[in-house]
Amino acid sequence: MNNPDSTSSLDFIRSIITEDLKANKNDGRVHTRFPPEPNGYLHIGHAKSICLNFGIAAEFGGLCNVRFDDTNPTKEEKEFVESIKEDVRWLGFDWGDRLYYASDYFHQLYDYAVQLIKIGKAYVDDLTADEIREYRGTLTQPGKDSPYRTRSVEENLDLFERMRAGEFENGSRVLRAKVDMASPNLNMRDPVMYRVLHASHHRTGNKWCIYPMYDFTHGQSDSIEGITHSICTLEFEDHRPLYDWFLDELKIFHPQQIEFARLNLTYTIMSKRRLMELVEQGCVTGWNDSRMPTISGLRRRGYTPESIRNFCERIGVAKRESIVDMALLEYSIREDLNKRASRVMAVLRPLRVVIDNYPGNRVEYLDAENNPEDPGMGSRKLPFSRVLYIEQEDFREDPPKKFFRLAPGREVRLKHAYYIKCERVVKDEKTGEVVELHCTYDPETRGGWSKDGRNVKGTLHWVSADQSLKAEVRLYDHLFVKPNPGDEKDVSDFKTLLNSNSLEALTSCRVEPSLAGAEPGSRYQFLRQGYFCVDSIDSSADKLVFNRTVTLRDTWAKIEKAQKKTGIPKAAKEPAPLSEKHDDHKPVGQEITIEDFSKLDLRVAIVREAGLIEGADKLIRLMVDLGEGRLRQVFAGIRSAYPEPEKLVGKKVIIVANLKPRQMKFGLSEGMALAGVGKNRLGIATIEGELLPGDRVK
Ligand code: ATP
Ligand code: MG
Repeated sequence: MNNPDSTSSLDFIRSIITEDLKANKNDGRVHTRFPPEPNGYLHIGHAKSICLNFGIAAEFGGLCNVRFDDTNPTKEEKEFVESIKEDVRWLGFDWGDRLYYASDYFHQLYDYAVQLIKIGKAYVDDLTADEIREYRGTLTQPGKDSPYRTRSVEENLDLFERMRAGEFENGSRVLRAKVDMASPNLNMRDPVMYRVLHASHHRTGNKWCIYPMYDFTHGQSDSIEGITHSICTLEFEDHRPLYDWFLDELKIFHPQQIEFARLNLTYTIMSKRRLMELVEQGCVTGWNDSRMPTISGLRRRGYTPESIRNFCERIGVAKRESIVDMALLEYSIREDLNKRASRVMAVLRPLRVVIDNYPGNRVEYLDAENNPEDPGMGSRKLPFSRVLYIEQEDFREDPPKKFFRLAPGREVRLKHAYYIKCERVVKDEKTGEVVELHCTYDPETRGGWSKDGRNVKGTLHWVSADQSLKAEVRLYDHLFVKPNPGDEKDVSDFKTLLNSNSLEALTSCRVEPSLAGAEPGSRYQFLRQGYFCVDSIDSSADKLVFNRTVTLRDTWAKIEKAQKKTGIPKAAKEPAPLSEKHDDHKPVGQEITIEDFSKLDLRVAIVREAGLIEGADKLIRLMVDLGEGRLRQVFAGIRSAYPEPEKLVGKKVIIVANLKPRQMKFGLSEGMALAGVGKNRLGIATIEGELLPGDRVK
């Protein structure tokens, strides 16, 4: 986290702080805070804010507080407070002794309110909530002064004191700031500061029957704590003038508010209110359902704190609203678990295999490495016997092209074990379903290698039938069917966009015996399947339950899909359109529609680093700045034109910015650079002029 070298270009927030430090603002102090409202569980968007606030404090030698903005007694619960603390700690951050509650400041805030009344800047209003709304005006019409706006200071002091003493009903009176009913900013039209609310608060009990509004609490709480940089999301930009007004009128320490764009992720939602709805209506099993974008859901699913922190670093911070591809979050966890997860074998949909030439009473133990990425993780023994299970999908009676797994008469390798050859297929008489394979093994191939060097193309995972353990495995897919469910127009209820296939529970899986007693929360790679985690709630010694954290890249699915696509019969091709007769209309490449083209998000980027890649003779690697406060890695097949890629540094190029990130042999590719390609000519498209990184190219 604390790695200034990795930020070769500072994001806009860190740039502001760097400037402030240069100017010795706040005597060189940097103090941030994470201010959750305890009305739900934290989600991955909050993780972005946590990483940002704690990260900045660490990088600049400052401090970061956690403060619960608990001004709304009716919606807040202790359960949420505890879960938030657990999640922040789990992410790896420490607030030391600086855990605060806005409710700790209720007295101070009350005194501030009295102070504003005394200088004629606040008044008690008897209008009803509806009348206040009516008087407020609209974006195009100025508001109207309340008839109570001119009450004397004495009367206001008396009424406010009696509001506090409990003399009035809920909603009968409010305290309002006297700002400007004609302000173009609606937040400035005499906002409510205090309301009467006879409700018990989770920390202050029945001590108060008036509660400060969030807008009268947040800025002053930051001020009380000496927060220097009050970092929040863009929706508070319009509230900043009000926060400034309160601080100035009260003449108290003035934190600087800086707004950034919230994190949005594809195929999920990021609103506590909506997540709560899913929980309360039973659409998911709880806040910590593995499909939820909550920190507790991601933890249960098998995400590591490191992967979430890396993800947050990768996405950076910007002022522009955008939506991040879920594939990037998945990439982060895959990258982390690849290094640390033990490899084991698990068969999710078992198909029985009998090795006819293997003795029925024999069990031998074969060596299996735990992680090829890390020999230090050692090895384990795997039992092999006459009856095994393999994956149903690893056998095809009639194998299509490029299907390299088992088929009648074909030989494959069983990982860490032997070559086996399929001799006979047993089918269910009624359904025709393949229920058992009879195979032979070659004793000379122990460990999975033949001395004669003969070639087998497929390597399968397997388990021994008798020694393997039964397990339930839960496979997850996106929670929603649409990439941006929160933003879908014409949808009366976002819940209709839920993916009915987001959970598939397989109950007759078989896992290798080394998983006996696997600790809840422990993570494994099931060979060829993906990364899985022992469910921390439902798994037990008698009944193992695993959650799929993320798949591996499934190359076969891709090949099959591609085959299907190109397998369109030739006759179905459309006849050439008439206009093709005229050469001047003939397209130089395959045609796409204007809609297809407009989906491309072309952006200006500055090349910050460029270099050759060892082992790649066509590619160069670029690190480009799209104004996102981080650099993106892009691979371009233009090495022949740029034997010294360093010369590209500083050039403005055009990047396709909305491609799904793609894992390549050399790293993650997060975009594509436009280049001109021709006979004996090749060059990257560069542009000149005023355009800034991140600007759109049309
Ligand atoms: P929600 O809209 O999900 O209910 P919220 O803003 O009401 O969230 P808070 O508890 O007030 O939730 O948020 C605490 C902090 O986290 C705030 O500073 C807020 O700006 C930040 N935050 C909330 N959602 C996101 C997000 N999607 N991306 C980045 N920061 C976020
Ligand atoms: Mg909020």
